[in-house]
Amino acid sequence: QRVDVPVAAHGIDPKLLDDRAIKVVTTLQDAGHAAYIVGGAVRDLLVGRRPKDFDVATDATPEQVKALFKRAFIIGRRFRIVHVVHGRGREHEVIEVSTFRAYLDASAAEQVSGNERSAKQDMAGKSHVVDASGRVLRDNVWGPQIEDAARRDFTVNAMYYDPRTQTVVDYHQGLADAQARVLRMIGDPPTRYREDPVRILRVVRFAAKLGFSIEPATLAPLREMAPLLRNVPASRMFDEMLKLLQTGHALASLAQLKALGLDRGIFPVLDAALADAPEGSERARFIELALQDTDRRVQQGRAVAPSFLLACLLWHEVSQRWAVLRADSEQPIAALSQAIEAVFEARVGDLSGRGKLATDMREIWMMQPRFDRRGGRQPFSLVEQPRYRAGYDFLRLRADAGEASSDLADWWEDFALGSDADREALQDTVR
Ligand code: ATP
Ligand code: MG
Repeated sequence: QRVDVPVAAHGIDPKLLDDRAIKVVTTLQDAGHAAYIVGGAVRDLLVGRRPKDFDVATDATPEQVKALFKRAFIIGRRFRIVHVVHGRGREHEVIEVSTFRAYLDASAAEQVSGNERSAKQDMAGKSHVVDASGRVLRDNVWGPQIEDAARRDFTVNAMYYDPRTQTVVDYHQGLADAQARVLRMIGDPPTRYREDPVRILRVVRFAAKLGFSIEPATLAPLREMAPLLRNVPASRMFDEMLKLLQTGHALASLAQLKALGLDRGIFPVLDAALADAPEGSERARFIELALQDTDRRVQQGRAVAPSFLLACLLWHEVSQRWAVLRADSEQPIAALSQAIEAVFEARVGDLSGRGKLATDMREIWMMQPRFDRRGGRQPFSLVEQPRYRAGYDFLRLRADAGEASSDLADWWEDFALGSDADREALQDTVR
């Protein structure tokens, strides 16, 4: 049932809004469509945070939306949405506009036998397809706003905000939950987890990020449902893992995962990071420092490279394998390279669609043995490498965790900063 909440009751501060998001909403409204800021942005506004991005929901179709903006692009397969783009280059901003969608529950949807998607049926234009476990594979049926709200995950994620009237439209008592700081699944939680097991990870992420509690019925099925995550494509799992670890609350997210028994057997990369790393060990310390560092960077508004974080999480497995391979080889560098390939194979899989990610990780790792060689011309060329900074930061982290010597990290810090004369003097100290 729809409730229209006036500003006096929800208290959203219009100063937290983004001019471009307002512009997109009002442009759609002026063309005669319903349009609202929706989802996570409304949730963040309600708890007084400035949203990191704004999504818009409308009753206009993607084609109608596209026609109203100069730079708008229809994207997506699973969901067809429109990206309205403002600005250029680094400063560019994307507002995601999605058309209200119908909610079809798993029983109303087409049942597809087998675990994976039946490509033929999907291509044949069935617009809502689930697999045998009830996972929704595709849903692109437009529908009324009330159904658009019902298909969303948590009550706090299912509200609409009209910046013109400053009204919040709420179908699921999301306002009360936002004020009580509670995550509550809309509908029957086990069914909703089955439709999309990634919701299991989303609860964890939002609980960690917002400091919200998880309502008992939403919490209860989590552990039992976790094996369903095996049906989720690896690339989507990888994205979710990065989201968990790069939202500025990586330590809190890991603690949440642990508390719920979801820290093992879900993400291969995390399995590698947590293997043989009992509380208080050097390894555990290294991972903790890496996550802390990431959180600090995000909170300072600085960029965090996924390559650095992943290099940290996989480092122990790399160095372990390296030690084994090095023992029966005279080529330590070749052995490291081999160890790296083995770890990619075992824990990461195909990263070819992800730009320089794998290359950057390799470079960080391959630089580590070079830090041990401080004589000759090598150090001079090392500090000139474009990725030197990441490699050095990694060395520093190893030193902070007690795995490398702090003197060594200090030496490289001075070396990188110094003049040629300083550098030669530094080399004299280790001759
Ligand atoms: P964040 O601040 O992390 O971006 P968000 O709530 O905006 O959080 P998004 O992944 O950007 O999360 O999704 C936007 C909205 O789309 C959500 O608020 C929710 O309403 C809906 N949504 C996204 N993913 C799902 C899902 N797996 N199941 C149901 N609804 C979803
Ligand atoms: Mg979002």
